[in-house]
Amino acid sequence: MLNYVESCLNVLEAGKKIYLDFISPIHCQICNSQCGDNQIIFRLCNQCFYSLDYSPDKEHLLNSIYSKKKGDDSALSSISSYAELTSDSNVELLIYALKYDYCSRIGFDFGKILGMKIANDSTYSTIDLIVPVPLHAARIRERTYNQSLYIAKGIQEIIHKRIENTCLQRIMYSGSQTLLNVSERSSNMSDTIFKVNNKDRIHNASILLVDDIFTTGATLEACANTLLLEGASCVHGITIASAPLR
Ligand SMILES: [Zn+2]
Repeated sequence: MLNYVESCLNVLEAGKKIYLDFISPIHCQICNSQCGDNQIIFRLCNQCFYSLDYSPDKEHLLNSIYSKKKGDDSALSSISSYAELTSDSNVELLIYALKYDYCSRIGFDFGKILGMKIANDSTYSTIDLIVPVPLHAARIRERTYNQSLYIAKGIQEIIHKRIENTCLQRIMYSGSQTLLNVSERSSNMSDTIFKVNNKDRIHNASILLVDDIFTTGATLEACANTLLLEGASCVHGITIASAPLR
């Protein structure tokens, strides 16, 4: 009897999927083709996923922050990213959907890819906590969710570390970074933009700091500076995508 009910439910579920695929098919955010059943990333066909350009390795990304800081040490112990924002890969279309089109699942799916990328890398073996880069409360009201939290949840699915979502807070509304050039972005991101609410939660912790895009590194650096000043032992940055290095 139980098997019969289970088969009926499976048939209903399959019927619902056929109906939804017919009335609202899911299309790839990049090439607009209809996505199949086994897509790795929501709203990205697997062909486009495998065509994404890889980001430079973590040493090159970290060096790009060093060079912008004119020889000073970076607050970040490492920075890692999956895809490079090139005109060929069009990955910014995906990031746009994640940030502005209520597609939080893109963040979760990419988070799992990032989790797999670092799971067997000894650089990340000491991670204690996952911290998403916070949005200002006004920005949360506009967008209704923080895309970095969903990326963090995907990473957590793989590496099984605690997400600390409230200890780091963005206290200054820094405006949109989209229209600023590189030096304007850096100067728009001072270390006083963030604060830590409960130092005990990050005391002596090795932190994986999560954001959607690495552009100048200014946002991740400002967060890392604040976390280190308030007692974290080290901060590693990780993002879905990185801008081409200059
Ligand atoms: Zn596609």
